[in-house]
Amino acid sequence: MKANKARGAVGGGAGATPRDTGFEGEYAPAPETTKVAIAPRYGHFIGGKFVEPRSDGGKGTRPGDHEPHFLTINPANEQPLAEVAQGSEADVDAAVRAAATAQPKWAGLRASERAKYIFRIARRIQERARELAVLETMDGGKPIRESRDVDVPLAAAHFFYHAGWADKLEYAFAGRLGSPPLRGGSHLGNPPLRGGSGRLARSERDSRPGGAGYPEPVGVCGQIIPWNFPLLMAAWKLAPALACGNTCVLKPAETTPLTALRLAEICQEVELPPGVVNIVTGDGRTGAALVSHPRIDKIAFTGSTDVGKRIAKATAGTTKKLTLELGGKSPNIIFADASIDQAVEGIISAIYFNQGHVCCAGSRLFVQESVLEEVIAKLRLRMASLRVGDPLDKNTDIGAINSRPQLDTIHRYLDAGRNEGAEWHEANGSALPSKGYWCRPSFFTGVQPSHTIAREEIFGPVLAVMSFRTPEEAISRANNSAYGLAAGVWTDKGSKIFEIAKKLRAGVVWLNTYNRFDPASPFGGFKESGFGREGGMQGLRGYVRL
Ligand code: NDP
Repeated sequence: MKANKARGAVGGGAGATPRDTGFEGEYAPAPETTKVAIAPRYGHFIGGKFVEPRSDGGKGTRPGDHEPHFLTINPANEQPLAEVAQGSEADVDAAVRAAATAQPKWAGLRASERAKYIFRIARRIQERARELAVLETMDGGKPIRESRDVDVPLAAAHFFYHAGWADKLEYAFAGRLGSPPLRGGSHLGNPPLRGGSGRLARSERDSRPGGAGYPEPVGVCGQIIPWNFPLLMAAWKLAPALACGNTCVLKPAETTPLTALRLAEICQEVELPPGVVNIVTGDGRTGAALVSHPRIDKIAFTGSTDVGKRIAKATAGTTKKLTLELGGKSPNIIFADASIDQAVEGIISAIYFNQGHVCCAGSRLFVQESVLEEVIAKLRLRMASLRVGDPLDKNTDIGAINSRPQLDTIHRYLDAGRNEGAEWHEANGSALPSKGYWCRPSFFTGVQPSHTIAREEIFGPVLAVMSFRTPEEAISRANNSAYGLAAGVWTDKGSKIFEIAKKLRAGVVWLNTYNRFDPASPFGGFKESGFGREGGMQGLRGYVRL
């Protein structure tokens, strides 16, 4: 450890000052080694192989539209990492066809065999964990501490968890099975699957305890994911779909395709049958082509509410199933009887984790009036101790903002907050790197519920602090949002916890903690945060026909 300029109380806990901890030094840089092979150029993963992109047939409408590749860059230094294929309608069509061809055989496999493939994917993610974490950090800008300790282990955990479900699906839907099997492989008017019936062998269906049959897979799933948790979102989507006997076409976000492409390599390594998982990279147009493809049976989307609404319109009136994981403006409620130091740690984790690029971020903080001053003072101190900088440094708390457009969006919200009269508190301190996209953590006080920063999702390290007097006021202010994804409640009183939690209109409520995820626990929203659940037994529901 090198002692140079003091910057804050690292590891000193909420409210600690350098003097309190006896620590006035600065950690020396602790960079993770970046020896991770990245090819100069990647194609799509279709039918078990990496393939060159096909022409879009001249359908592009913007300058540069006909380019078959685009660059993915490291947002921490703006250096190019690789060229990635821009998926055209022809690419999407090839991927969907490969998935449709593979689906009957995959669904017809003995369920315990499907489980083995999914289990092997989980094991390979564990074995390649360091490489995946480094790549995730380089492509997306998140701190290595988070990709190493959260994203990659949770991605493996999702595959492990769903491997366990593959041969137990009838227990997930007890009492809801027994409808006659569909004849001719035709589901709700979709064209028959080529090369098979798409159903499990009768012997396997009928040999299940109770003999009530086995849930039918949906078929071919189009899965569109965002840039904030690229590998983890791929796992959330693929693992349950595969466990239920579906095949998939996954579209990663334009700015973070690299770990999904590593996952494609893992699919090859575990000898997953060709076509079961296909990955088509590209921008929003590639996603739109996937949504409108007639042979897709289900769309699973995570991303913005605006795009989610567009997808809902595009699929309305079709037989496509749809689940939407959209945005949020989640309340984090601190009662005066809470352990304040612990709650301040919870506030920090709720809003500054992953630079605030978290759909369930606790971005609206409600503090009971009698402890408002204390909470703000401790929050200011703790925020000042967060290290912003090189995401590959193991000491970094806040990495790079994912892209220039997202940084511009955050700045527009900071301007709106200041212009509408709220008071801005920024973590002052260290100089930011000259290259890359950076934003220090900050919070606003004096926020009114009508302020833009209290209503709209910022998706950055910016917190809106408000106060309340009574539990009833806390509940009504927390529920006063177009969104309903998550909420946090901090109090010492068990009875209050249950009383408040059941009145909050949020898909997930964390009690005396925040941002805890487990594959066994369903995740999803109310209102403009979308519908459908991912994870847990409930998450399987979107991938079967009962
Ligand atoms: P988008 O909703 O634009 O993107 C999510 C995914 O959808 C990406 O793969 C994107 O491709 C794709 N996509 C974009 N347009 C279409 C379309 N018309 N049809 C089908 N797919 C499409 O979110 P952004 O990534 O642009 O983020 C913007 C905002 O969305 C954030 O500020 C945040 O508020 C919210 N968001 C919420 C997330 C959540 O988990 N709830 C996650 C990420 C973002 P491409 O990346 O190439 O544009």
